[in-house]
Amino acid sequence: MRAAVLDGPESIDVRETERPTPDPGEATIAVEASAVCGGDVEAYHEGPPGKDSVVPGHEVVGRVAEVGDGVTDLTTGDRVGVPWLHEACGRCVACSRGDEQMCPDREITGTDVDGGHAETLRAPAAYVHEIPEAFEPVETAPLLCAGVTAHNGLRAAGASAEDRVAIQGIGGLGHLGVQVADAMGADVIAVSRGEDGRDAALELGADRYVDAEAVDVAETLQELGGADAALSTVPAGEAMSTLVGGLAENGTLAVVGAPSDPIELSARHLLDGDRAVVGASSGTRAERERHLAFCARHDIAPWTEEFPLRDVETALEAVEDGTVRFRAVLVP
Ligand SMILES: [Zn+2]
Ligand SMILES: [Zn+2]
Repeated sequence: MRAAVLDGPESIDVRETERPTPDPGEATIAVEASAVCGGDVEAYHEGPPGKDSVVPGHEVVGRVAEVGDGVTDLTTGDRVGVPWLHEACGRCVACSRGDEQMCPDREITGTDVDGGHAETLRAPAAYVHEIPEAFEPVETAPLLCAGVTAHNGLRAAGASAEDRVAIQGIGGLGHLGVQVADAMGADVIAVSRGEDGRDAALELGADRYVDAEAVDVAETLQELGGADAALSTVPAGEAMSTLVGGLAENGTLAVVGAPSDPIELSARHLLDGDRAVVGASSGTRAERERHLAFCARHDIAPWTEEFPLRDVETALEAVEDGTVRFRAVLVP
């Protein structure tokens, strides 16, 4: 089969590899769509972590090709989704309290084990999601990481229908965050750089758009009454800091991006208004199931651009340059 193999920093090659076969408890999945996450771009620059090579891709939809011994709930031909969490131990403190994504012994799809930028991948049957036939593979793959991460961020920020919700960064995660917050019934303020994103943000369901290049974000949000909940999806600590300044009293900012520079905080600003800054991770199997159902109920779908698998490098560069609206999806 063909797979995009990451052999080292900035060295990714689409070539023939051995088609995987399922171990007991596993299924192999014929890939229909594999979306490109920001994490794939980081991995592309850094190379495979602690090993010679890996096939990236952790937002995958396909059909079950083969099942291993002991798999009773999947059949060849079933449409399934394969997420970021390949497998957790199920026994540690994190797993037993329901935070399997924090398991210290977890394995990550496309990092620890080969992922979906290929014609076939394998995954434990217990960790794949059954995807209804009505779901389009290309439009479903990005929900498995970008969508659920944005949704979890909004929940961590306590976003609800009564709230003014600011979402910073209208890209892979942010454009899904806007749709989820709008479906929740919130008053949605999209924050991004430049005027290019305004029309898209409003079309996605934002009630207002704040151009971070034209105005002071914190001041503008405060003039609007402050953000009760905020979600930052940008990989820039400095930008996150401006959002903290825009929080209303009792407001919470959830961060889902991982910048290298620190977030600057005024303790006075936090304690004067009981404000908070929290992190939100990519979610459990249960949270992904609930997110997929929420998206189906509210007609939420990512805006995608398809790339053939052989153009994986072009797709990675487009994601890095921010020219993709808003999620690149590889199709084998
Ligand atoms: Zn991801
Ligand atoms: Zn565990």
